[in-house]
Amino acid sequence: MAGADVIIVCEAGKGQTEAANTRLIAIGEELTRHCSGRLLCLLAGHDIGTKAAELSRHVDEVCVADSPLLANYNPEAHLKIAQTLVEELQPRVVLFGHTFIGMDLAPRLASRLGVGVASNCFDVRIENDALSFMRPMYRGRINARVVMDFRPIIVTLQLGGAEPPAAGRAGTVRRIDVGPVENAKIKPLRTIEPAPTGIDIAKADIVVAGGRGIGEKQNFTLVAELAEALGGVPACSRPLVDMGWFGTSHQVGLSGNTVKPKLYIACGISGAVEHLHGMKESKTIVAINKDPDAPIFKVAHYGVVGDLNEIVPQLTREVRAVRGGKDPRRET
Ligand SMILES: Cc1cc2nc3c(=O)[nH]c(=O)nc-3n(C[C@H](O)[C@H](O)[C@H](O)COP(=O)(O)OP(=O)(O)OC[C@H]3O[C@@H](n4cnc5c(N)ncnc54)[C@H](O)[C@@H]3O)c2cc1C
Repeated sequence: MAGADVIIVCEAGKGQTEAANTRLIAIGEELTRHCSGRLLCLLAGHDIGTKAAELSRHVDEVCVADSPLLANYNPEAHLKIAQTLVEELQPRVVLFGHTFIGMDLAPRLASRLGVGVASNCFDVRIENDALSFMRPMYRGRINARVVMDFRPIIVTLQLGGAEPPAAGRAGTVRRIDVGPVENAKIKPLRTIEPAPTGIDIAKADIVVAGGRGIGEKQNFTLVAELAEALGGVPACSRPLVDMGWFGTSHQVGLSGNTVKPKLYIACGISGAVEHLHGMKESKTIVAINKDPDAPIFKVAHYGVVGDLNEIVPQLTREVRAVRGGKDPRRET
């Protein structure tokens, strides 16, 4: 049933790509299972044969647009390809990652097709044949349920929180013609890659985050040491990024990364809605804050009221003592 097909628009670049593609496959699979349609993937870029083969293990068909014209994200060229494919396949849903590319391309496509777009969605609800998508509104203060009665439904999905999908399919790979883009008004010059940090907070099982309450940049060592002792990764709230201490790859929250670890420890973080938005789905939340009325305690499963400068080093010592100096990253 062509009308029930789902197209996921995957990316072949670096940075946010992997977390976005994982999420797209997970939600795309869920949708196609319920709608009995095919899961199709659009992959545009240059020299992307390996990526296409990898993705074909998760979808029914990968439509590959491979051209030097697409080596950098080119809004007009990417839009032309997406539009041509969607008009050809008439899917029910088109899913993008809520990445810099997805945020740009999804509304362009929606505008061309004369439909709306639900952006920054974090969940999908399927009841009988009706689909709805959950997205935050008013800076994360409420979650809205969005129902769209047009076709295709165009959605951008928040990254992270999805398990790496099992490779259960043997999809075909189809090359699609890119063709020229006439009178392009936008000419991308180059892509500036994010600085490599070696840390992907969206995938970590344990995240220890520091907020403005750490005071000085050098105090972040306390947070980093606890993260290391636990075998987790360090992260932060937005003020630390705004102060230029860390890049956005470390930031948890609405305008940063969404994390869903088994354990999230918030040190000196008040719990503003924008921060909660990025971590409240964590399995176990521990908050350390000297203010007993800090909103973070409303979502925390365990709370410690006190000075993080005293509590965090104690905790690190305890963890190291319990683990007997074992490197938790090497434990199986
Ligand atoms: C559009 C928009 C998007 C945003 N996106 C994000 C986002 O993605 N992520 C994000 O984090 N924020 C985001 N923000 C900012 C958000 O509103 C808050 O300003 C921010 O989360 C506050 O960070 P914080 O909790 O570290 O700092 P604060 O709110 O200043 O809290 C510091 C906390 O530390 C505690 N503290 C101080 N000293 C100690 C100590 N010695 N020991 C223990 N506790 C101590 C204090 O009691 C306080 O609760 C966004 C804002 C806007 C408007």
